[in-house]
Amino acid sequence: MNVMARTFRGAKAIAEGMYTTLKHVRRPQVTINYPEQRPELAPAFRGLPSLPPDHEGKHTCIGCNLCARVCPPQCITISSQKGEDRKIQVTDFVVDANLCIMCGLCEEVCPVNNTLDKSDHPGSAIQLSHLYEMSSYTHEGLMFHLPQLVEIGRQFGRSVSPDLAGKAGTVHYAAASDWKDAK
Ligand code: SF4
Ligand code: SF4
Repeated sequence: MNVMARTFRGAKAIAEGMYTTLKHVRRPQVTINYPEQRPELAPAFRGLPSLPPDHEGKHTCIGCNLCARVCPPQCITISSQKGEDRKIQVTDFVVDANLCIMCGLCEEVCPVNNTLDKSDHPGSAIQLSHLYEMSSYTHEGLMFHLPQLVEIGRQFGRSVSPDLAGKAGTVHYAAASDWKDAK
């Protein structure tokens, strides 16, 4: 191939590249500068399961174990005991985020109707939150216990009471340490 032919092919490739670039210049931007910019999540976005607190700041789980039974990867472990009033008290609630596939079955099966939720969503004691940043160097770092799950529900829940930290349907991003330290 002579010099002229190679020059022509090079110029043609550049022209095609520029044409493709110019075609996209006027199109709306679909990417963001993460993590400086955050995506606007759909209200039904499925992040880590959480236990949103009620108006007194307490979780509403009654320890029925239905969520743990229905969970496909068996990543929920609930510890409970009978209180003096003979009601079941949940002493720990663990979600293993190493295994969780965010399917939402736990939320669907939960019999509790969380009265915090003012939207059309029925609400339940366990709800998939808007938390999606939870990387860890250890397996244990992705084991979320009861206090953490309540804190995540408070900060990242989609049906959090307006008088608490978040607003229904919006995402409140806080430093990861805020909920990690809740353990
Ligand atoms: S979202 Fe699915 S996988 Fe995750 S805890 Fe709930 S039932 Fe289990
Ligand atoms: S989160 Fe709901 S389904 Fe799971 S144990 Fe508590 S009340 Fe039962």
